[in-house]
Amino acid sequence: MTLVAIDLGTTNSLISVFTEEGPVLIPNALGDVLTPSAVGLSNANEVIVGAQAKNRLVTHPKKTFARFKRYMGTNRDFKLGRKTYRAEELSALVLRSLKADAEKHLGVTVTRAIISVPAYFNDVQRKATYAAGKMAGLTVERLINEPTAAALAYGLNSKDDENTFIVIDLGGGTFDVSILEIFDGIMEVRASAGDAFLGGEDFTDAVVKEFGTQLGPQFEKLDAKAHGLLRDLADRAKVELSQKEEVGVKFNTGKDQVKLTITREKFDEVSASLIKKLRMPIQRAISDAGMRAENIDRVVLVGGATRMPVVRQHVTRLLKLFPEHKLDPDHVVAMGAAVQAGLVDRHEALEDVVMTDVCPFTLGTEVAIEHKSGGFEAGHFQPVIERNTVIPVSRVVTNSTVRKGQTQIELGIYQGEAPRVKDNVLLGKLNIAIPKNPKEHEAFDIRFTYDVSGILEVIVTVHSSQKANTLILEGNPGSLSQAEISKRFKELEKLKVHPKDKAENAAVISRLERAYENQLGDVRSMISHRLVDFQSVLEAQKETDIELARSEMNKWLDHIENMDIF
Ligand code: AMP
Repeated sequence: MTLVAIDLGTTNSLISVFTEEGPVLIPNALGDVLTPSAVGLSNANEVIVGAQAKNRLVTHPKKTFARFKRYMGTNRDFKLGRKTYRAEELSALVLRSLKADAEKHLGVTVTRAIISVPAYFNDVQRKATYAAGKMAGLTVERLINEPTAAALAYGLNSKDDENTFIVIDLGGGTFDVSILEIFDGIMEVRASAGDAFLGGEDFTDAVVKEFGTQLGPQFEKLDAKAHGLLRDLADRAKVELSQKEEVGVKFNTGKDQVKLTITREKFDEVSASLIKKLRMPIQRAISDAGMRAENIDRVVLVGGATRMPVVRQHVTRLLKLFPEHKLDPDHVVAMGAAVQAGLVDRHEALEDVVMTDVCPFTLGTEVAIEHKSGGFEAGHFQPVIERNTVIPVSRVVTNSTVRKGQTQIELGIYQGEAPRVKDNVLLGKLNIAIPKNPKEHEAFDIRFTYDVSGILEVIVTVHSSQKANTLILEGNPGSLSQAEISKRFKELEKLKVHPKDKAENAAVISRLERAYENQLGDVRSMISHRLVDFQSVLEAQKETDIELARSEMNKWLDHIENMDIF
């Protein structure tokens, strides 16, 4: 059974496999290897995924969603048509679409997958990723940290050299840094750090804010559609700014068309606070690896947002090394995840390659600390597995009950680096029954086991009874139970999905509609004529004519869309 690898990104997702030729990216129905992580409902209430849905973010903002990866493992609901979905379910629809593309391309049924996640994803977000896989009909065999995957892609080409890498991964929604050492085919992640809430989308928000300032009071009055349009233009302006010194956009406010501009200098100014946030995880990863910046031989950039010159300059200045980008930053995680798939399936070509990873954050429990004056103060954090410990790992601590005769303990499990649990992330709470012992404090062992996918299992054993409570953390407010996952899987299966063979035509229509939305006057009426023409070619059902019309229309749309940006 083929094992596929999936990069489930905030902005784009990719699917790949490991073959005799090495890692290979699989194209979708439109022939692209990047599938936008966007999901929506068509006018016929069919589920649409990818470019077609992304185009409709502007024209149908209430029936389309993107950037939901940020909400994996939270209770946030997304209302689509008459139903509401969680981020896991929207992700499952993206995964299902990728699975179908891979099945078509490979000519086999695909049920096993490796999925990449930000190194900084916590236990709840990782379980949510497993749940998304399950709801897409996939057995997720392993999760791999995104920067580790990137390092595997780079490392494979230089596995016989001795090198210390720093991988800097700024994607759409997350920022990860990993330090990696390579020697004799062994690739060892020495440390990881990151920020789960920093990514290219935040830089887009900064451009939206700047455009908002230029628009003045009418910015507040924009409706959801106009907002979507402005964000789309801001994102394109941000990308253009990676090539140009100044970019302008033509924005249709709903009443009139206005010109908004941004220079690279202004962009650097409005994104200064975001750039500042890059420094800390880089420094922490280096110091956790027991190194100094001088020990780093190579800097590898990953994630679309590292194309921003301001990010490259900052990294160069900080590390005094020019970053490498030999592999496409949008492809490198999926390529590396495919290498991991090859390793899991013991592919011959990878016989001499060994990979080790670390746990990027500290995991521990809540404890009460005894005051000198007697009495206990609850709410303190007791680390069990410290950050950047090599995984898989299992560690034990021994605690005692606070009161004699105590029959119950509620044990809070946390992730984070703060001394008080209230400032860390709660992963779950466990209730443990204790035999009543009025004479003494009862001792108990708490064993934490963290596996290669970053999933935590906690076992509590009370000394006197030797009774073990095995608890895989579930029941966090953001997590779905196994029963709920199965139920949602069945419901997703029932959804009507827009047929793949029509995806290319539908993408042209949604692109025309998006262009219509942003234009006025003559151009607008030209677009509506083109829409009618295209529909009539489709109705005639002559495949060669349709192909020709589609290619002409896409070329014409490239030209029209470029008119929005100057
Ligand atoms: P990823 O999740 O790695 O696909 O990263 C996507 C993010 O990178 C999005 O926020 C994009 O807007 C951003 N991005 C892609 N290309 C560029 C570029 N040339 N310049 C600036 N940002 C870019």
